[in-house]
Amino acid sequence: MSSIEENIAWLKAQLPERVQLVAVSKTQPVEMILQAYQCGQRVFGENKAREMEEKHQQLPADIEWHFIGHLQSNKVKYIAPFVHLIQAVDREELLPVINREAVKNKRIIHCLLQFHIATEETKYGMNWEEAAHLLESETLAQCDHLRIIGVMGMASFTEDTALIRKEFSTLYHYYLLMKNSYFRDNPDFKEISMGMSGDYPLAIEEGSTMIRVGTLLFGERNLR
Ligand SMILES: *Cc1c(COP(=O)(O)O)cnc(C)c1O
Repeated sequence: MSSIEENIAWLKAQLPERVQLVAVSKTQPVEMILQAYQCGQRVFGENKAREMEEKHQQLPADIEWHFIGHLQSNKVKYIAPFVHLIQAVDREELLPVINREAVKNKRIIHCLLQFHIATEETKYGMNWEEAAHLLESETLAQCDHLRIIGVMGMASFTEDTALIRKEFSTLYHYYLLMKNSYFRDNPDFKEISMGMSGDYPLAIEEGSTMIRVGTLLFGERNLR
């Protein structure tokens, strides 16, 4: 077995049924993605629009591509024809752009709202007030080709597991608030994307339905 194969099998064996594995393949060559594909992995995460578009063109069509990075408005058009889930909607202004591109492509595009739960200033995402504003906005009401199906967040990069756990539980709390206030009768609204290589066991304990793991599957990325 190749090590990617072993890593995927090892990781999947730990996941409860409700938790989906998003293999984060950013910066990795298509050969590595194909290896993971050949052991049955179909869901991959990328954080650069052009990189994801190129890989989509070169790889099998049944891969589900998740966009997990900060998405610039002028780049939405590159991924709109095929993206399976935009995980990182971090501002209201993105909604009409995604909706417009979804209409052009005759698709419904699924999205997660990204919350800022970490202590670092550098991580993207909304606070509760911004999310509530977005959810009650006329902008969203007019986006009939976009569907919000859950939340996403990144915990602080720290050894302090109590802090990480608290941040994940905050995200879970936002999920529940959204479910109860805005998506009560909507069975599609069910995803909580949290947990990466360094903290996925905690995320699963705190209610994650989707973990985004790169390094543990593919090894360290080259810095760029
Ligand atoms: C890179 C990245 C990941 C994966 O990180 P690893 O530590 O390599 O598992 C997960 N989520 C987001 C948003 C990322 O940018």
